[in-house]
Amino acid sequence: MKTFEHFNARSVEEALSLLKEHAGRACLMAGGTDLLGKLKDRILETYPDALINIKTIPGLGAIREDVEGLRIGALTKLAEIERSPLIEEKYPALAQAAGSVASPEIRTMGTIGGNLCQDVRCWYYRYPHHMGGRILCLRKGSGPCHAVKGDNRYHAIMGGKACFAVCPSDTAVALSALKAEVRIAGPGGPRAVPVQDFFTPLGHRLNPDELVEEIRIPDPPHGCRQTFLKFTLRKPMDFAVGSVASVTTVRDGICVDASIALGGVAPTPLRAEEAERVVKGKPVDPETAEEAARASVSNAKALSGNAYKIEIVKALVRRALLLTG
Ligand SMILES: Cc1cc2nc3c(=O)[nH]c(=O)nc-3n(C[C@H](O)[C@H](O)[C@H](O)COP(=O)(O)OP(=O)(O)OC[C@H]3O[C@@H](n4cnc5c(N)ncnc54)[C@H](O)[C@@H]3O)c2cc1C
Ligand code: SF4
Repeated sequence: MKTFEHFNARSVEEALSLLKEHAGRACLMAGGTDLLGKLKDRILETYPDALINIKTIPGLGAIREDVEGLRIGALTKLAEIERSPLIEEKYPALAQAAGSVASPEIRTMGTIGGNLCQDVRCWYYRYPHHMGGRILCLRKGSGPCHAVKGDNRYHAIMGGKACFAVCPSDTAVALSALKAEVRIAGPGGPRAVPVQDFFTPLGHRLNPDELVEEIRIPDPPHGCRQTFLKFTLRKPMDFAVGSVASVTTVRDGICVDASIALGGVAPTPLRAEEAERVVKGKPVDPETAEEAARASVSNAKALSGNAYKIEIVKALVRRALLLTG
């Protein structure tokens, strides 16, 4: 592993100033569960000159409620989110998503900010350098996308254009259905981006001189029911082959509001807007759930080896709606 400078930032301002000083050659480190593996495997051609540890910034690891809803500091551990009585009661989809991530050890180290900003898991992209040399590809800025003609069984079935790696974050899916926003600190002052818009086909909307400070979630609709379901190959620890978060409000037997997000199927978490349209104004019975499940994959375009994901997503959406409707 190449040597690098290490800084313990004591404040958001200090972290931002170190980012500026190193002009794209420094990397923020929270729990390190994603970043250190990437550095050890030397999957990228360029290495950072410096790591800026942000765990030393006080006050970024709190869960608070105020008039606008819930505020979760970027350094809050996934295990704390999973176990928070407040989140379990009012935002169970998020508690379930956080609890589905990896193993207890990783949830105890990994933070929500790092979970949102983690890099993709495409096996071509992550191929370790010490096993015969890293694999360059379009996402690394050099070469083709190997998944198009290669083994693409875990890749995107929707929304992929040049890169077909899926967004690996489970919490992003629940936060997307809960209409949360990411609060970003940067040299130009703070800004907010809805979680749904935070992700891009090749990463996220953070500039190199910015950091995620907080996640804000508005109060969920009164009386809504929520769930997060995830299909994995290896239980109990694996990334999602497909996942769904559903937040549904039913009054007098009729669905008046539905927010459904899909994970593991696209480079970003994806709102299933067609499915939401199908359920709104109807009772959520097996027939409607089936129709919504079909609608949720109406845009799907499978690669050579991942058409099976379409059936998995349909089953997850159907189940989620029947659980929450
Ligand atoms: C074996 C294994 C299994 C896993 N399974 C799952 C899974 O099932 N579901 C899932 O969702 N994830 C899974 N993960 C990923 C895991 O959740 C992430 O590694 C973890 O959440 C990252 O958090 P961290 O604090 O350790 O981030 P770090 O590793 O410290 O950082 C990750 C990235 O985010 C950036 N970053 C961190 N914090 C901030 C911030 N506040 N602002 C801006 N940038 C920031 C860092 O610069 C780095 O690029 C798994 C990981 C492993 C190793
Ligand atoms: S899916 Fe993306 S990360 Fe994977 S090989 Fe293709 S371009 Fe690279």
